[in-house]
Amino acid sequence: MTERLYREDQYIKEFGAKVMSCEKAKDRYEIILDRSAFYPEGGGQPGDRGFIGPSKVIDTAERGEDIIHICESPAEGEVICAVDWDYRFLNMQQHTGEHIFSGILHSLTGFDNVGFHMGESEVTVDFSGPVSREILSETEKKSNEIIWKNVPVTEIYPAGDELGNYDYRSKKEISGQVRLIKIEGADLCACCGTHTAYTGEVGMIKAVSMMNYKQGVRITLKIGARALEDYREKTENAAKISASLCAKTGEIADSVEKLKEKTAAEHLKYIELKKKYFELMCEKLTPEFPVLFDDSGSADDARILADMIAGKFPVGYAFSGNDEDGYKYAVVSHSTDVRETGKKINAALSGRGGGKPEMIMGSVNAPRNEIEKVFDEGL
Ligand SMILES: [Zn+2]
Repeated sequence: MTERLYREDQYIKEFGAKVMSCEKAKDRYEIILDRSAFYPEGGGQPGDRGFIGPSKVIDTAERGEDIIHICESPAEGEVICAVDWDYRFLNMQQHTGEHIFSGILHSLTGFDNVGFHMGESEVTVDFSGPVSREILSETEKKSNEIIWKNVPVTEIYPAGDELGNYDYRSKKEISGQVRLIKIEGADLCACCGTHTAYTGEVGMIKAVSMMNYKQGVRITLKIGARALEDYREKTENAAKISASLCAKTGEIADSVEKLKEKTAAEHLKYIELKKKYFELMCEKLTPEFPVLFDDSGSADDARILADMIAGKFPVGYAFSGNDEDGYKYAVVSHSTDVRETGKKINAALSGRGGGKPEMIMGSVNAPRNEIEKVFDEGL
């Protein structure tokens, strides 16, 4: 049985211990110590990392009463151990922040937290019912107010017959001694993880997204150092967009909307001009050679062009592309079945495609002079 130092003091970063066993498991070593400040994975919180002597700890897990340190190399005897404090503290911020947010959302809506995941860059929490944008915003505001008040995060170990007196949140049925984590004004929740001693250490909570999930919602949170990192990244992006649009950062969304409207209007103009250009091209055609080439490489352009030609002649043919990348083609007729024609084009020009009696679309892998030759010689 490993003595759990993190339960006495979650701020222990270095400690001395004795190696009780060290077993090879594939290319790793599983080390058990007589005492450990490494938190083993559990309650949604990942296992700690760090060092046991010179041996790197890459994960920590629980097995019965023991804590298993998964290490890259073996260790023996008396050892000095070090918890990767940056990683642990980040996890403590995430865990405590999640308590504050979930407790407040629960008190505002009555919904339960039915899922919790601490990822590499964010925390997600799932709730059992729908949450409005207003409630989400209020929860975020109240959560940060609790952080700024810097209230203590305390532990309560109620005796078995006292447990019923507490109105606490719990994600699962718990057996044995229950440990309640109390954050005055925010939450009372059964939990085995590590938390900061005061809410101020959490720094900040930002809800960055909310989506419908099962019967309720999934909310993504950026907490503590990750909230700052998210802010830094978004500020950099906003500054780049702002410079690119010559707009103030607070006005970039409006500027992008205006840009989209302008682009859409210009695209309409472009389509109009293209139609006129196609009409001019059609005027030059003869019944002997009702074929047109366009360089956009667009299947849609080939279709529009072939359809225009078919308004003048029994069958219209259009190819769009270039010799290097190949051509998209379309064959259109308003009076005859063109499916056989499509097959002939595919066979003569290493093409593929198909369609309906009035229209065939596809692509060919042949240069323009070969395509023209096929039509000159009669399809
Ligand atoms: Zn917790």
